[in-house]
Amino acid sequence: MDDRLFRTVMGKFATGVTVITTSTNDKVHGMTANAFMSVSLNPKLILISIGNHANMKKYIEESGKFTVNILSKEQQEESQYFAGQLNEKREIQFQWIAGVPILPRSIANIVCDVYESHLAGDHTLFIGEVKDIHTEDGDPLTFYRGKYDCITS
Ligand code: FAD
Repeated sequence: MDDRLFRTVMGKFATGVTVITTSTNDKVHGMTANAFMSVSLNPKLILISIGNHANMKKYIEESGKFTVNILSKEQQEESQYFAGQLNEKREIQFQWIAGVPILPRSIANIVCDVYESHLAGDHTLFIGEVKDIHTEDGDPLTFYRGKYDCITS
């Protein structure tokens, strides 16, 4: 099967957008991701899929923790920035919940411990056990067929 066909078809699944954050030795790392889903209610588990070449993979393996920050419609630029698409380095002011960094102005922050991880082809699936949640009002940023949009309530 052609790679482009696979990517085109996967892009027809409309998603929200998250920035994953973690920290090792007080150094924070953030990365844009839309491969995120809820997995289980009891225990409360979620899943993210991280490319094996992404710096984020080794940082999550080192820290054993991560936060899923669900982006609001005002955060498209942050999504582009944490995907490495803006040609600049910024000073980002993170906040902290239970010793884990979160991205301010997100509509939700889901703080997790790594519960399990599975190598799956060129990505690693990290299942997170949810330890804390913070939520704010706001409308979500969305991603569909390679383009940003939003849902306005
Ligand atoms: P890096 O390239 O190391 O970092 C990304 C950027 O964030 C860099 O500019 C870096 O300087 C900056 N940065 C990070 N931490 C800080 C900090 N503390 N202070 C200041 N700047 C900082 N990839 C996946 O593996 N899984 C996905 O589900 C996924 N979904 C995506 C969805 C969308 C909508 C987009 C646009 C991209 C997605 N990607 C996904 C691709 C992924 O975001 C990029 O490939 C990313 O650059 C790779 O991550 P990295 O850890 O190597 O990041």
